[in-house]
Amino acid sequence: MNVLHDLGEARRWLDEERRRGHRLGFVPTMGSLHDGHRSLLRRAAATSDVSVASIFVNPLQFGPDEDLDSYPRSLETDLAMARDERIDGVIVPSTEAMYPEPMKTLVRVEQLSTGLESLSRPTHFDGVTTVVAKLFNLVGPCSAFFGEKDYQQLAQIRRMVSDLSFPVEVIGCPTVREPDGLALSSRNAYLDGPQRAAATVLSRALTAGIEMIAGGESSPAAVEQVMAATVRHEPLAELDYAAVRDPATLDELDTIADRVRLLIAARIDTTRLIDNADGRHSLGEYSDET
Ligand code: AMP
Repeated sequence: MNVLHDLGEARRWLDEERRRGHRLGFVPTMGSLHDGHRSLLRRAAATSDVSVASIFVNPLQFGPDEDLDSYPRSLETDLAMARDERIDGVIVPSTEAMYPEPMKTLVRVEQLSTGLESLSRPTHFDGVTTVVAKLFNLVGPCSAFFGEKDYQQLAQIRRMVSDLSFPVEVIGCPTVREPDGLALSSRNAYLDGPQRAAATVLSRALTAGIEMIAGGESSPAAVEQVMAATVRHEPLAELDYAAVRDPATLDELDTIADRVRLLIAARIDTTRLIDNADGRHSLGEYSDET
């Protein structure tokens, strides 16, 4: 497996692979890889001629009071997982290589950037779309694999690719969960025992919403209230938002008719967790909404 710290070297390698007619599969990550990332790596390796991942903790997407410095880092075990999954190369750029100068150019997806995550993380998605745009320019034409776990992020990236004509096929992959429903996340490492138990409140709230919709509830507000109440019953959790939205535009819905996405964010002590689900399927069931 190629481990590339140098961006020029990475570009030359990938250009050469494409020149040979190889189709590229790309998985961008911030490292601290878990089985959610593993599912993306596996899919990229299985469906591409040449698979490449990136590991870069992107300062641009962290707010001033967020966990950039403490964000978990585990390069050696990450590379071992990539090797395990038969990834052909991992790009591990330094911050200086990615941002030799303070950025004057940002990529912002309007509208989709407002509400939900953007309320408490106003600059987050500009950081994400900007770094993903840079990585797409580095990697070139490819299929790129993203998790539904970060649903708003996936929607933003799809829109950016379409608006800016990136030669990239974006592939959304289902959320991988612990047996008790908790979505895998690098930030789960921050949770102690009682907090870890409390963290299942996100998936429990989603399930409560899904069951209401299955029972015929068509009012988004009623479903949001039940999701919020589930979180309020958990003493260690503090709700950020519980939302019922259109899966494609993430707009609010007047009524729950057909396709619907449930999204939730809550803080367990200082750890902020997010989750989401197709409102028409129980958790873990396959959905093709994205
Ligand atoms: P991150 O390292 O957090 O930036 O995540 C890298 C990619 O892994 C993103 O596309 C995430 O959506 C995806 N991902 C993170 N957690 C999960 C999960 N539990 N299941 C599936 N994909 C995930």
